[in-house]
Amino acid sequence: MKAIVKTRPEFGAEYLDIPIPVPKPNEVLIKVRATSICGTDVHIYKWDSWSAGRIGAGNLPQTLGHECTGEVVEVGAHVKRIKVGDNISLETHIPDPEDVQSFLGQQHIGEHMKIVGVDRNGCFAEYITAPEVVCWKNDPAIPPEYASIQEPLGNACYCLLGEDGDVVGKTMVILGDGPIGLMATAMARMAGVTKIFVTGLFPYCLDLAKTLGADYTLNAGDKTLDRVAFVRDHTNGFGADIVLEMSGSKDAVVEGFKMLRKGGRFSAFGVISAPELSLDYNNDFVFKGAQVFGINGRKMFDTWYRVRNMLASGRLDVSRIVTGLIDIKDFASGFDSMLAIPRHSAKIVMFPDPAELAKAKARRIG
Ligand code: ZN
Repeated sequence: MKAIVKTRPEFGAEYLDIPIPVPKPNEVLIKVRATSICGTDVHIYKWDSWSAGRIGAGNLPQTLGHECTGEVVEVGAHVKRIKVGDNISLETHIPDPEDVQSFLGQQHIGEHMKIVGVDRNGCFAEYITAPEVVCWKNDPAIPPEYASIQEPLGNACYCLLGEDGDVVGKTMVILGDGPIGLMATAMARMAGVTKIFVTGLFPYCLDLAKTLGADYTLNAGDKTLDRVAFVRDHTNGFGADIVLEMSGSKDAVVEGFKMLRKGGRFSAFGVISAPELSLDYNNDFVFKGAQVFGINGRKMFDTWYRVRNMLASGRLDVSRIVTGLIDIKDFASGFDSMLAIPRHSAKIVMFPDPAELAKAKARRIG
């Protein structure tokens, strides 16, 4: 089969012929219909210090990718729930049933949890094997180009709702204009957030945020703009009820805490490259009574359930967030647009089968 493989500890990847993997007794073999590029894939593609440390040159070659949808074509001997022919998407976090978190409803952050495309071969290929436990059955009403992006939509959903889901009628700052920031914007609008501020660096993405429901967009690179004052001025002087950090920028984190009102919630999702921060602990956390909520992955499978219903019902329209539909052999152009500055794209979905790509493109025109 064809696959996009990281062969060397340097920038880039190769489009290679490799053997079709064989599922273990608890695994299924999936024929990939659509697969989307995530920020994590970009880190690995660039081979930055995070991926060099997390994956390590010794574990190459490895197939890239973790967001996908496809059809189950073979099941291992111990697989019960999933059947050949099932239309599924993959949860990326493979839980270890022995972890204490697995007993506590937190299997997505288990001590020994493994990640598809990071700890094992990924889905930028014609086929992938995966444990049955991470297979999520799709609603057939959801086309593959959207079924593939349910994994990041689940991140956006978890960040947005937190543990209490208390968002209706509230004000929200979304820090970051990347794909997940844009997904959160559309979902926040759908969920009844009544004032949405989005910060980001790129006019194309900020304009997109506006079309998705942002009331205000704030350029994070504008040194003359006091974004904290702007948010306070537009929230009766209080600051925002909820702040979602989705930029991975140190400055945005610091600013975000200043934008948060007393008693508000800060969902921390973006990963920053040099994580030591200088924050005003007393005023930004303690006296503020801030709820700070780290998000690593999606709730299995609560957010999947919600996202499936949002997409299948048509209540959540992600068509404008999927800005690229490409043949998987053209992966380099997909990564190029993810790396371009300024950015002129959001989510890019790749297709191993040109016929699937043609159908997806026809749906866009139709
Ligand atoms: Zn992802």
